[in-house]
Amino acid sequence: MTRDEILYWLKEEDEQRLKELWRQADTVRHENVGDEVHLRGLIEISNYCVRECGYCGIRVDNKEIGRYRMTEDEIMECVHEAVQYGYGAVVLQSGEDYGIKTRWLADLVRKIKSETEMAVTLSLGERPDEDLVAWREAGANRYLLRFETSDRELYERIHPSLPGKRSDRFAILRRLKELGYEAGSGVMIGIPGQTYASLTQDIDTFRELDLDMIGVGPYIPHPSTPLGQLNDEQLAPDGEQVPNTEAMTYKVIALTRIVCPEANIPSTTALATLNLAAGRELGLSRGANIVMPNLTPPKYRVMYEIYPAKACISETANDCRYCMHRRILSIGREVGSGQGGRRKRQN
Ligand code: SAH
Repeated sequence: MTRDEILYWLKEEDEQRLKELWRQADTVRHENVGDEVHLRGLIEISNYCVRECGYCGIRVDNKEIGRYRMTEDEIMECVHEAVQYGYGAVVLQSGEDYGIKTRWLADLVRKIKSETEMAVTLSLGERPDEDLVAWREAGANRYLLRFETSDRELYERIHPSLPGKRSDRFAILRRLKELGYEAGSGVMIGIPGQTYASLTQDIDTFRELDLDMIGVGPYIPHPSTPLGQLNDEQLAPDGEQVPNTEAMTYKVIALTRIVCPEANIPSTTALATLNLAAGRELGLSRGANIVMPNLTPPKYRVMYEIYPAKACISETANDCRYCMHRRILSIGREVGSGQGGRRKRQN
């Protein structure tokens, strides 16, 4: 699919013609990653963060939220729950929290790898190279780091660099692959200032980077962030601003599947937040093959407020698991078993 075609589909609004896009994405998904939907247990291990991302509710200067960092025992309890539920992987996610020490996390990864068969995914922000090396050596398998937007000017506006260190998520992604991690990235859809041209470039960039995992979800404004308080003047000019809608999210999921046939693509919680009744299923029917049920203890989950009114905020891990199973089976798919790593086509 060419860039022009990607752009054409992003702008398509005719429901009948879009059915062709959904059909094509679902076929590519079926042929390349099969009908299994893999479950990754998400554990939000800390909401401390040193960053000032304009979109994110756990940014350092949001004083309105309480902060927490889970203990090793608390995390291991969630991990064992994941084992009991038959999940093949856990995702440890947090703000960019240097209270999470290199050694401490390496020991935790080793413990998970020695006590379980689980794949371990990390999503801890832009950590220094020696951390990525140490955690890979400890046995971590995958790392998620969304580049958020490929438009450098927009990126700098929404994701300020730390003093004296230019944020370069593409360099980190290349390094992660070099170290042998499965690398995951992705973008938010409908960030104020995001144009159709830049979103087209984002999708083309997924293809160039040959990513193993790609997460895309709608941008959801958080009132206690700078971006959440913007007015309409900060949007891209009329006809160019990408809307942060459910419909646009499906288009991006479908196009991502078509350009990256073998990638693992989640149907995200941000999407479910826009349509609690059917968002997950529609994401899965239009290209996605992964869901990430939340394992974070509910008392912490409410504090991990990257955006407001997150779906499933007060459910227990067990509720989440049954709900996901029901949704997967309701659309004629199977609950995946095993780690569900990236399958690469044989040459
Ligand atoms: N600190 C880690 C993990 C961040 S949370 C990191 O920066 O990589 C994971 C993802 O949530 C982010 O990459 C971002 O794409 C998404 N996110 C953050 N704020 C959001 C918002 N307001 N609306 C939608 N998605 C958001």
